[in-house]
Amino acid sequence: MKISLSLILWLFSGPLLFAQKKAPAPLKVVSSFAVYKNSCRQNPDKQLIELKKAIPDLQLDIRYATKNNFMKQIMYPQARAFARKPVVQQLQKVQDELRKKGLGLRIYDAYRPYAITVAFYQKASDKHFVANPTKGSRHNRGCAIDLSLINLKTGKELPMPTPYDSFAPQAAADYAELPVSVIRNRNLLIRTMQAHGFRVLKNEWWHYDFVGWQNYELLDIPFKDL
Ligand SMILES: [Zn+2]
Repeated sequence: MKISLSLILWLFSGPLLFAQKKAPAPLKVVSSFAVYKNSCRQNPDKQLIELKKAIPDLQLDIRYATKNNFMKQIMYPQARAFARKPVVQQLQKVQDELRKKGLGLRIYDAYRPYAITVAFYQKASDKHFVANPTKGSRHNRGCAIDLSLINLKTGKELPMPTPYDSFAPQAAADYAELPVSVIRNRNLLIRTMQAHGFRVLKNEWWHYDFVGWQNYELLDIPFKDL
């Protein structure tokens, strides 16, 4: 029974694999610092800006620079966060609005060099939960941010549906069976980000894409060069 079932699965997966291999889209990744710098001269919006320099009262908790992440490994050599210029300008507006309520942003991740996305995929034991590097991620474009809300006075995170990078169903941006206060916090974050040009990812309440990310190339410039 076991053998025949795997045989059936094999027969079905064969044509699927073939179909996937048929059209390999060439991926354009900017890995030369000179090419990146030149793109910034032509369009200053392409510049990667360090978040903490632009928004000093941001809280950084760059999990991939520690072992406190789903990979349980240090993936970033430096605990820094960057994004393209307009992304940072919009985040500034988000922080300004939150500050009036005594709140602020905690940043878990922002621009991610492409080589790190590849390393994630190679090192992950369960490929299901890790982005396939064949398309590149919006984080690689400097146009995605992972974040949460904090109380500016205490520095503590407001109660949210799940911890960062949780694979639980509760991480979905519209998950409804949660305490009212948690839903209120999550929806305040979603609404404020949305009002300033970001869209939440369906399965991750903490992940936001900048509207217009298509205009920015995938990058593989390491933090130390920035
Ligand atoms: Zn993300």
